[in-house]
Amino acid sequence: MSNERLVYLDNNATTRVAPEVVEAMLPCLTEHWGNPSSAYGLANAPARMIETAREQVAALIGADPRHIVFTSCGTESNNAAIQSAILCHPTKRHVITSAVEHSANIKFCQQLEKRGYEATFLPVDLDGGIDLCDLQAAIRPDTAIVSIMWANNETGVLFPVEELAAICRSHGVLFHTDAVQAAGKLAIDVQKLGVDFLSLSAHKLRAPKGIGLLYVKPNAPFQPYIIGGGQERSQRGGTENVANIVAFGKAAELALGHINDENTRMRALRDRLEQGILQTIRGSVRNGGGEPRLPNTTNIGFDGIEAEAILLLLDREGICASSGSACTTGSIEPSHVLQAMSVPLSRSKGSLRFSLGHDNTEADVDWLLEKLPAIISRLHDASPDDPLGQAEERLASAG
Ligand SMILES: *Cc1c(COP(=O)(O)O)cnc(C)c1O
Repeated sequence: MSNERLVYLDNNATTRVAPEVVEAMLPCLTEHWGNPSSAYGLANAPARMIETAREQVAALIGADPRHIVFTSCGTESNNAAIQSAILCHPTKRHVITSAVEHSANIKFCQQLEKRGYEATFLPVDLDGGIDLCDLQAAIRPDTAIVSIMWANNETGVLFPVEELAAICRSHGVLFHTDAVQAAGKLAIDVQKLGVDFLSLSAHKLRAPKGIGLLYVKPNAPFQPYIIGGGQERSQRGGTENVANIVAFGKAAELALGHINDENTRMRALRDRLEQGILQTIRGSVRNGGGEPRLPNTTNIGFDGIEAEAILLLLDREGICASSGSACTTGSIEPSHVLQAMSVPLSRSKGSLRFSLGHDNTEADVDWLLEKLPAIISRLHDASPDDPLGQAEERLASAG
């Protein structure tokens, strides 16, 4: 019945490619298909288009284009920053990150531990916030790098990156931030932030998957992660993904042009969604502090219900959302982010992330608010060991 409709509320997972971005990248796949490093005229257009894109992405983060290294994704950018710090400081055997990072960091640091390094995963409080004193205390003489995200992909909670970077600078330790979720949603100025490295990923920003960047501050020690040809000033080998780089540039330009309007619009939509759920669905609780937070993200727990069941029923109504949990061989692991925030298991297992994007409208939010309450109460009724559900059932049968 309603399957025609698609209400996509999972923009922190990926975004639909903007039509202007598709248009900008197409010539790289048709007319300008040459290798940008070649010595003949066919190389000129792609080489020039890459440099234009470099200027566009640099403008989005307030950087000099010469300090942008294009990579294959946000994951590579994060790995490259940490790996480089370790290679540049062979005697330093310790890294610091947080307990709520993207798996690109968590898994990489766990891998380092297996290779004999030590990793500190800084804790967070109930709101998902970080204590600056914990960072102060964790830094050691042999700390090679601190890598802490700016905006959490699951809760939208923001970390005080400028302060974190200042602490690292005062200790002479390199600082990297994963700004993948901040890009296009918050104004970014790498000079003001004072970071040594910063990662972005294009597909969270209305460009295609498979392209990212690493900002490398001038004079920060850096060794390439992917070794090969002399592309990217010898900081990242591999023939450039010209079409995706051009797309990234266009998406950055679009985002920069609308950043304040979009921020205001997203925040209003998000608050309508969040308040709509919290006020109408009993037992629903927001995970994470209200502010400072990304304007587009909310994470809400429905106590005693499995998130996967809610997602399945939402999907039948054409609504896409996300649970932070990962399914490993049939058993559902609650989100490591919510666990680190000490969210009770019964709520974290029933937690959903809604993340809005450029294409969303009030009608999308209202469609969710129309469908979700019935889905939740249906699942409460179906859940035999759920006290809230049982109570509601008794009330209902009592008339
Ligand atoms: C999506 C995401 C990444 C990974 O980016 P990819 O380009 O998909 O590898 C890293 N960090 C955060 C916070 C993300 O949301």
